[in-house]
Amino acid sequence: MAKLAINGGNPVRTKLFPAYNTIGEEEKKAVMKVLDSGNLSQFLGAWTHDFLGGPTVRKFEDDWSKMIGVNHSISVNSNTSGLFTAIGAIGIQPGDEVIVSPYTMSASAIAPLVYGGIPVFADIDPKTFCMDPISIASKITERTKAILVVHIFGHPADMDAIMAIAQKHNLYVIEDCAQAPLGKYKGKSVGSIGDLGVFSLNYHKHIHTGEGGVITTNNSILADRCQMIRNHAENVTAPRQIEDLTNLIGYNYRMTEIECAIGIEQIKKLPSLINQRLDNVAFLDEKLSVFPAFDILPPMQDNSVNTYYVYPIKFNKEIAGISRNKFVEALKAELPCAVLRETAPLIGAGYVKPIYLQPIYQKQAAWAFNPALYSGSVSYEKGICPVTENMHFEVLFTHEYMRPGMQPDDMMDVVNAVEKVFENINELVDDSKS
Ligand SMILES: *Cc1c(COP(=O)(O)O)cnc(C)c1O
Repeated sequence: MAKLAINGGNPVRTKLFPAYNTIGEEEKKAVMKVLDSGNLSQFLGAWTHDFLGGPTVRKFEDDWSKMIGVNHSISVNSNTSGLFTAIGAIGIQPGDEVIVSPYTMSASAIAPLVYGGIPVFADIDPKTFCMDPISIASKITERTKAILVVHIFGHPADMDAIMAIAQKHNLYVIEDCAQAPLGKYKGKSVGSIGDLGVFSLNYHKHIHTGEGGVITTNNSILADRCQMIRNHAENVTAPRQIEDLTNLIGYNYRMTEIECAIGIEQIKKLPSLINQRLDNVAFLDEKLSVFPAFDILPPMQDNSVNTYYVYPIKFNKEIAGISRNKFVEALKAELPCAVLRETAPLIGAGYVKPIYLQPIYQKQAAWAFNPALYSGSVSYEKGICPVTENMHFEVLFTHEYMRPGMQPDDMMDVVNAVEKVFENINELVDDSKS
């Protein structure tokens, strides 16, 4: 008789895992205060005092700057719009190339296309899943203007090597920090190392305001350009007598007073949320590292901090005797989803499909690819980033069983489910039909 849930046996657990909910009384009170004031957004798209928003927006940005250790924070309505703003601010033009990661949320690669720039994919390092500096260096051409780095899964990218490449070739560096708020690279906060950092305050991230984002920089010229692109730049270039109008077409990417009021409270909670995550990671590291088919991340060195947006595991199918996909499907069947996330399992095979395999790249279906604008040649063929493809299609799986709110009992159910699948692996090996 089958023991594994995927074959009809009883699952290890059916009771939903605890919710991950960072919103509480503090946020409620802060929102009510804004509502009582009647001022839900003080922004004006004209060169006045209110061009930079109201008191709550400004306080939120100050608090964010202090947390990250930068001179300027510019709030925006998403990380996606923040990346668009950052690409605009550094002056990306049609025909320029920007080196991006293929293994990230789609927004980190699409941003150059909005300004007519061409995303060029560099492969990832199988140890960190972040872009590999050697691959980055091999993708540089005379058209390259910037590197868009992603601290994927919360793991800081190899910033010393990447900054050295950027310096040598005179390139801008933008850090996508959506998955790594308060992550550190050799003691420095991510988002304070490159020219610009971009964070997300979307519902699915460590902390959130529903939707939202923040750009960070120490460069006052770039900060100013971001502030203009966020808020109707074209209205202020004449009164400010700005001569270089490159990309100073403005959008409305503003956050509201309500969102920033929530954000101020969320900032206060972030250090403790990260510590809970790291405590849970330490618990699971100890329990999961004993399985010979699992290869988990080693502890961080040099004062660097991984903030574990997800927990990646490399699966060795030779040792296990079954494929990663079969293993993940079997484990998924043993474990429930979570409260507030009843339909999306906390585990998945791979992450997102290598981005260049999306139709927009396969068909080069964007105006930026028009040969009148772009004289280079870029390839999006399957095979251009073999490490990424191997990780995604064969080796890597990610889970979120270390989310704050998970107690040792909950995590032990996960460990027991893993143990159960390995103990009954014969049920999976023999099934040639699946
Ligand atoms: C979530 C995410 C984004 C997009 O953030 P939004 O705030 O939802 O626009 C971009 N990059 C990465 C790496 C992300 O995880």
